[in-house]
Amino acid sequence: MQFRDLKAQYNALKNEIDAGMRNAIESSAFILGKPVAELENELAAYVGRKHCVTCGNGTDALQLALMIWGVGAGDAVFTSDFTYFASAGTASILGATPVLVDIDPDTFNMSAEALEAQIQRVIAEGRLRPRVIVPVDLFGQPADYDRILPIAEKYGLKVLEDGAQGFGGNIRGKLACSFGDMSTTSFFPAKPLGCYGDGGAVFTDDDDTAERLRSLRAQGKSPTDKYDNREIGMNSRLDTIQAAVLLPKLKAFRDYELAAVNRAAELYTERLSAVCKTPAVPEGFYSSWAQYTVLFGSSGERGEIQAKLKEKGIPSMIYYPRGLHQQKAYADMKLSDEMFPNTLYATERVLSLPMHPYLTEEDIALVTDTIIS
Ligand SMILES: *Cc1c(COP(=O)(O)O)cnc(C)c1O
Repeated sequence: MQFRDLKAQYNALKNEIDAGMRNAIESSAFILGKPVAELENELAAYVGRKHCVTCGNGTDALQLALMIWGVGAGDAVFTSDFTYFASAGTASILGATPVLVDIDPDTFNMSAEALEAQIQRVIAEGRLRPRVIVPVDLFGQPADYDRILPIAEKYGLKVLEDGAQGFGGNIRGKLACSFGDMSTTSFFPAKPLGCYGDGGAVFTDDDDTAERLRSLRAQGKSPTDKYDNREIGMNSRLDTIQAAVLLPKLKAFRDYELAAVNRAAELYTERLSAVCKTPAVPEGFYSSWAQYTVLFGSSGERGEIQAKLKEKGIPSMIYYPRGLHQQKAYADMKLSDEMFPNTLYATERVLSLPMHPYLTEEDIALVTDTIIS
């Protein structure tokens, strides 16, 4: 069994993907070719933003967005403690200070109370300037924007949605990658919408921001003259071949893959809710199931069950084994475990199970029977 079966997906979409890649090669427009513009238009229309600007990966997308706001030394960027490193690392690389926020124990997403407490602490300390909140749509479920956006408004902060895992999710029909001032996503192969290498995108409703993003992803060039550099930028663009892969994948994602992962999640939850804590999806929320993650009673129980799954050839993953506050890269911030009780609780008990649109009922039965027994 595959954790995320990209081969089954390729077999289902082989004709379109092969043709798209061949056309991209025959056109010889390898970077930012026509399919890239086509993809950007489709992505923006799908999530409900005015502009989509693609780039090299989801990490660069976050960095480009922070660069738009001139985030740097002395700035505080608030993000979740329980996420992939890039959500915080992109603030650090620009010289800003990530301020980590504990999670809600039910959704694994940033806790609104903990966020406000951290903002007030930073203001009281007076050392950093609060600038940006980076909520993460963890495991496919949008963060709690109903509560985070008013907090941002109250303290005059920007909101950058890290939708790397959230693409396809929604809150009462409003899609992930449309929340806050700017949003980003990743097309890393294992994400809800993945390409065949690295890729990413920034979403914005602002015309000037979109134009500046197009410049910043290409060394800060002027729109009309490649050798007239207006500001310091990155080299971070999407390959035409990746756009050609993503176009048919986006269609399948919308047509049936998103519904298929939601059916798989329903089956898992139906069978597992009596033996472990299954994922909570609050009223009005819809997940794209980047991960299906359950909580066991203890790290010991989790270890035993993971070993049993492995015996049966079932892969499972621990996302994530530690909070960002425990990363060596942030050792100098001297953050204590006591500040992040819910992250700590999760790191000791979470287990992510195989999840993808091509999972069969037999696969799900084998996973759930093994866990139940
Ligand atoms: C994967 C991921 C990223 C980074 O995306 P890459 O394309 O791998 O650079 C950022 N944030 C989160 C939450 C992610 O899961």
